[in-house]
Amino acid sequence: MTFHVYNTLTKEKVPFEPMEAGVARVYNCGPTVYGRPHIGNYRSFLFADLLRRWLEYLGLEVQQVMNITDVGHLTDDDVADSDGDDKVEAQARREQRDPFEITRGYTDMFLEDMKALGVREPLARPRATEYIDEMVVMVEKLIEAGHAYRVGGNVYFDVSTYPAYGRLSGNRVEDLVAGSRVEVNQEKRHPADFALWKSDEAHLMKWETVFGPDGFPGWHIECSAMAKALLGDQIDIHTGGEDNVFPHHECEIAQSACANGVPLANVWMHAKFLQVDGGKMSKSLGNVYTLPDVEGRGFEARHLRFALLRGHYRTQINFTWAIMDEIRARLENLDEVAVLLHRLLDGGAAAADAEAGRDVLAKTISGFEEGMNDDLNAPVALAALEGLRKPLLEGQVGEAVAQDALAFYRRANEVFGFIEVDKQTADGEVEALIAARNAAKEAKDWSAADAARDALTAMGIELQDTPNGVVWRRK
Ligand SMILES: [Zn+2]
Repeated sequence: MTFHVYNTLTKEKVPFEPMEAGVARVYNCGPTVYGRPHIGNYRSFLFADLLRRWLEYLGLEVQQVMNITDVGHLTDDDVADSDGDDKVEAQARREQRDPFEITRGYTDMFLEDMKALGVREPLARPRATEYIDEMVVMVEKLIEAGHAYRVGGNVYFDVSTYPAYGRLSGNRVEDLVAGSRVEVNQEKRHPADFALWKSDEAHLMKWETVFGPDGFPGWHIECSAMAKALLGDQIDIHTGGEDNVFPHHECEIAQSACANGVPLANVWMHAKFLQVDGGKMSKSLGNVYTLPDVEGRGFEARHLRFALLRGHYRTQINFTWAIMDEIRARLENLDEVAVLLHRLLDGGAAAADAEAGRDVLAKTISGFEEGMNDDLNAPVALAALEGLRKPLLEGQVGEAVAQDALAFYRRANEVFGFIEVDKQTADGEVEALIAARNAAKEAKDWSAADAARDALTAMGIELQDTPNGVVWRRK
């Protein structure tokens, strides 16, 4: 099965075919750095990381770019063209700090969290404020081509010049106006037109350009310009959270296609929001959790990584502390698969036939790969990995198979990144007691054998006698 992805643009699963053989060009909409990143933000970025890792597993070189929005994202940006405050500036006023200082501080926090969560570094993390020239060039091109118009220091995209506007989100221009999802503004030709460039002398982050002395870019043009600058006119996949579909990605599609003459991305993928305590997280409910909050409850960053990747990215998943406890247990079981494989290869209980369990391994690998190839169906792939534990606990796996299973398990974890596959465990004492118990049993010294078993039980070690030797695990 080839890798199939769900394309939000066409509303169907399609086989993934990169434009250039062996290379995938992927753009991920990144964070707007006006506040402390929280677990709700992480889901879409971990999804982007999972996609990148799966493409790498398939042998592709992934040219991945994830931007950082540090200007121009307005508070009312859920409408196509808002007049709200710049999110960064609003925060700067609240904290009474310089906006550039604000974005630097929150960017650092974001990057620290990404690192702790095991997110691989993309090829580039462009900051919008570093690509102002490229944005201006693109806006000028849209004006020249008749797709945009100036009103004083403001520049608007003329949606009537792009009939496909609305295809991604399913929003028709007429409905947008009726449903107040656009800002009615006298200087626009059509209420659904959206700003590419704005001028406001009161804005703190502003640039002198051909459009005037006090301007700043619209949020949407930022991603179009950065994607073009770093990946070219046309890319394979563009991702974001479900909230990016409209207006952000709808507007990106329109302006890029009109400026470049080719579609921006062949596939558009969107991750669903995370629910917390069964609903939307909110400050008033006190459940806008951050990574330090999760760690403060005794969980590791990888537990959170698992929690956010365990569900399919297009389905709702919930976060609660009770779920985190279940996740800890599930991850222990996945870690245990690796521990059991190592132990078997270090001379532990292996089936007499070195090839025993070959069919189980083949089924595991195909289950894992088929799951991931089906639009990154992580739950199916995870279930396949979890299925390895039982035959190992029952001593049904031979040494040659264990060797291959461990190699596969490492590769699978290159994709998931939350299992401890090669952790050094302090097993010496346990192994010594098991050896002592075996020796005592052989010598029919039952009390010594029982004493060894009691000592192991006291250490929280559970023994299972299999025809191929003793398998042990921590309870
Ligand atoms: Zn974006």
